[in-house]
Amino acid sequence: LVRARGVRKSFGDVEVLKGIDFEVARGEVSVIIGPSGSGKSTFLRAMNGLETIDAGSLKVCGDEVGYTFADGRAHEWTDKRFAQFRSKIGMVFQRFNLYSHMDAMENVALSLIHVKGMKAKDAHEIAREELARVGLADHATKRPHQLSGGQQQRVAIARALALKPELMLFDEPTSALDPELVGEVLQIMKQLAAEGMTMVVVTHEIGFAREVGDSLAFFDQGVVVEKRAPRELLTETSSIRIKNFLDAVK
Ligand code: ATP
Ligand code: MG
Repeated sequence: LVRARGVRKSFGDVEVLKGIDFEVARGEVSVIIGPSGSGKSTFLRAMNGLETIDAGSLKVCGDEVGYTFADGRAHEWTDKRFAQFRSKIGMVFQRFNLYSHMDAMENVALSLIHVKGMKAKDAHEIAREELARVGLADHATKRPHQLSGGQQQRVAIARALALKPELMLFDEPTSALDPELVGEVLQIMKQLAAEGMTMVVVTHEIGFAREVGDSLAFFDQGVVVEKRAPRELLTETSSIRIKNFLDAVK
């Protein structure tokens, strides 16, 4: 579902991705770890078309994505084509970015109305189903400030799921949460994985990587240092950089 080959990306003089090779098969959970500034978020954003790439190839959900054309647009796609591509990919960030003046159901329904052109009534019905799926059936009419951080993140996950994505990208979804709220979000992600959702997850939750991940990749300074079965990487790596990183986050 994802195939990256030699993906490069610079911001000004700084090369942030230095030839990323990365693959995700359908139904697979790929976990990415690595130090701050290693290019994890940039790579996720490139997969979602939020960031262009400078070289290499990046195929996501059947589409070749990511190049900058002379006019500065990401590609020759029309806005509609781009929206179609984006709707195949759900993204969940560290900060949930919910609209504070809307309740949970309206937050989830919004993109269904705007991206899919759905009628409000139908969109609200799907929103209710997706909220139930993340355990928030009873919280549909609450606004973000009436919900805990963990619940808000689950609303953000429901919002991404509402578009029926083929691929879900998570960028440190639990890093902004109080420790006691981390588990409920990881639990939802685990459930999604068990349902067969294809996921790429950037996280420092090593336990999640070990338990749920099909593969674990270590990014450092814009390259994939190692990518293999989580248990193997966590116990058998010969890389000093990885060992030092794991000692620090444990
Ligand atoms: P963290 O663990 O802190 O989230 P990361 O691995 O996600 O780090 P990125 O956010 O991908 O790292 O950033 C990689 C490098 O690219 C950093 O040095 C960052 O400052 C730089 N960078 C990211 N986005 C931009 C941008 N839009 N403009 C300029 N530099 C950027
Ligand atoms: Mg990041």
